[in-house]
Amino acid sequence: MKTLRRWSVRHARFLEIFYNGFEACLRTMRPLINKIGHERLEPAFASTERVIKGALFDCKMCGQCALTSTGMSCPMNCPKNLRNGPCGGVRANGNCEVIADMPCVWVEAWKGSQIMQKSEAIHTIQPAVNFQLEGQSAWLRVIKQK
Ligand code: SF4
Repeated sequence: MKTLRRWSVRHARFLEIFYNGFEACLRTMRPLINKIGHERLEPAFASTERVIKGALFDCKMCGQCALTSTGMSCPMNCPKNLRNGPCGGVRANGNCEVIADMPCVWVEAWKGSQIMQKSEAIHTIQPAVNFQLEGQSAWLRVIKQK
């Protein structure tokens, strides 16, 4: 899994463009999604998201996705769940202080962000994680919010 996670960071720009297209499609489907009902669609969306993002990003289904601001490196893979940059314990080789053989997700996030179109998005302050949203579809949430 970690190999694919690193591939995603290396291809952050491609994934950003793909996601923007996907989000635009979802937005055009909003009337239909609203008609069917978000609660009815939630299980299908959440399951699909779990499979796809689980494979590509080791997604933990936090329900409030930050990938487009974190270089396609999922911040929930940080053992400390830090959403706004690394702790002070990053090793000299760029690995995590808790999981010594894992690159720090924030070192990866910086690398990914620098090849993305919106490279400045990594400076956006992320709100604290709302654990009440855990397990829910972030895609559906985006549609609800926009
Ligand atoms: S930020 Fe949340 S929704 Fe996005 S990939 Fe990570 S755990 Fe999944």
